[in-house]
Formats: sequence, structure tokens, C-alpha cells
Amino acid sequence: MDIGIYIVSKKIVILGSTGSVGTQCLEIIRNFPDDFSVLGLSAGKNFKLLKEQVQEFSPKYFFIENYDQNIEEAKKISLEEMVTLEDVDLVVMALSGSIGLVPVHEAVNSGKTIILANKESMVMAGKMLVEKAKLTGATILPVDSEPSAIWQCMMGERKNISKLILTASGGSLRNYSINELKNISPELVLKHPTWNMGAKITVDSATLLNKAFEVIESSNLFSVPLNNIDVLIHPESIVHSLVEFIDGNLKALLSIPDMRFPIQYAMFFPDRKANVELPECNLAELGSLNFSPVIPGKYPLFDMAMSIAQNNNSLMSVLVGADEAVVDLFINGKIKFLDMNYLIEKTIQSHQSIKNPSLEDIKNASEWGFNNVHQLIDI
Ligand code: MG
Repeated sequence: MDIGIYIVSKKIVILGSTGSVGTQCLEIIRNFPDDFSVLGLSAGKNFKLLKEQVQEFSPKYFFIENYDQNIEEAKKISLEEMVTLEDVDLVVMALSGSIGLVPVHEAVNSGKTIILANKESMVMAGKMLVEKAKLTGATILPVDSEPSAIWQCMMGERKNISKLILTASGGSLRNYSINELKNISPELVLKHPTWNMGAKITVDSATLLNKAFEVIESSNLFSVPLNNIDVLIHPESIVHSLVEFIDGNLKALLSIPDMRFPIQYAMFFPDRKANVELPECNLAELGSLNFSPVIPGKYPLFDMAMSIAQNNNSLMSVLVGADEAVVDLFINGKIKFLDMNYLIEKTIQSHQSIKNPSLEDIKNASEWGFNNVHQLIDI
């Protein structure tokens, strides 16, 4: 009998492979080539990089938004087909924005294990997705540093939790006054002090809307009511989040802010792997860590999101769509930083909300939010 050690590689598809999370995912696969085989890659617009990735990782399938672009080495299939491939072990959802909703829904529907970086889908349809996952056996693994920290702290003890505490760096504008924010440039906003992330999420960090999204995502993923989740400003981004238990004990997860930590954890879950490429966290060198509360009124979009998140209606999807529109307009210099607050607020106010929205209602609401912002600036 032939006895040997066989390494079973996980078959993985990555949606959004040319973005920040997608490229870091591939970097980990480069570090551990025997543990993964890439089955499919998809990109939105970056055809050049996608082609290079296909040539390097030899997936069977690819997808790109533009219908005319083709890559000879692989077969083009739709995102929905890619996430439901029968032999796929891991689906990485690294698409940015509401476009992730339908593929995430499809992957949940077909009972896949999903590494979820696309928080918009959890914000818009979290309750529906979590309920559906219970029925289909799908597993949703968070990859964002804060929900991943919560997940790791909760490991083995889901009961007896009194509170989740999500940390926030405060974004690139944390030391600016409201007055100084009036004429702030996109270049400045896009310089995140601690994390290296995509443009959309970096702007959302500056408004703290990203943190509201993470609170809602965590509430849905871990079944903890919104009222039992706090946010703490922690400029160093070393403590990624904390869990408080009923006996008053706190557990925290610490590392150098590098997205490869939570990405690698999700990719190897339930194992851990040593990776010499990842930076060591030397607390003696860091010396001190700082924490402060979120100042009420400083982040209007955070407050707005938290107040509408309490109800399971279509307003949250409107906010997600409107935010995509304003962030894009701001990055392209079409509106000013503080205009984003006004445009989102105005859009939310004029929406007729739908209670317990269906997937179709959610999609429509987010598109409505996006279009309404554009109508407002045309006037
Ligand atoms: Mg985060």
C-alpha cells in the first residue's frame, strides 16, 4: 500500500482579483502555492492585470465586465456561474460596492464557503443572507480586519457576550476641524494613515461610514444587536477589535495593520499558518496605544447610518447606493468633501422606504440612491 502525505489544495475563485483584497489574496497563494489552486478570477476594469494574473495562476475561468475583452488561456463565464462552480471550495468576494450583492446571494444560495470582503452586501441584505446560509449550509467568513478580530475573539465562546467593540483609526481626516474639511482634496483623503486599502473604502473610512457598515455587518454575522456594539477610536490600528464578556473580561486581537493577516486567516480557516512575509508586532517598540470615544456629531454619515440601521427596510440600500455615487463624484473632483453628507441626507429623506425588502427591492433601492444623487447635482 502506498502511504504518503497528500496536500489537498483548496480550489478558489476570486471575484475582484485586481483590487486591494484580491491582489493580497493572490500574494498569499504565491506564498503557499501547494495549498491553493485558482479556478477562477474576475475583474471590473483592469484587464491588463487580470490577463497577467490568468497567465501566472492558470485558472480555468475568468470574467471581465467588458464583453469584447478576451483571454485565450481561460474560458469566460459570468460571475454567477463562477461562484456556483461545483468543485469550488472557497469563493472570495473582493468586489467593491453594491455590485457584489447578486454574486454573494448566488454563492450563499448554493451553499458555498465564502470569504467576504464585500461588506455592502452584508449591510444591504445581511439578515436575508445569514438566514439563507443557515438553510443552504453556506459559510460566510469575514475578511475585514475588525469583523475578523471579533470572529477570532469569539472562537469557542459565542455565549456570554455582553458587547462587541470595533476599533476605528478615525481615517485620514481625524485631526481636521469641520471648517478645515470644507476644501479638503481627494488626494489628502486617499492617504489613509494606517491601512492600505482601495479608494472607495478609504473615503468611507474618512467619513466613518465604513465603520457603520462594519457595525451592521458584525451585528448580522454574529447575531449581536446593534445596541450592543460600540466603536472606539484607536489611531494606531493595532487592536483590531474587542469582545466584552458578561463577567467583564475583554478579549482583543492585535497585529500590525496589514490586510494579509485577516485574509490569510480566512483562507486557511480553521488552521493557522506561519508566514514569514507578515510583519511582527513588537509592542515594546510601539510603546503605547491610544483609545478615545467617537465624538458625537463629528461624523454625520456614521450617525445617519446608525440611526437608519435599526429598521430592516430599504433605506440602508439607498444609503449604500448614494454613497457609491458621492464617493465617486468626490474622488473625481466633481463635488466637495462635505457635499457628500448633504447629498446622501437629501436622498435618504426623499426615499419611500420598503419594509422587509426582497432582493429585487434591495437592488432597486441601491440603484435609486445612486441615481438620485446624480439627479440632485444636475439641478
Ligand atoms: Mg475594516
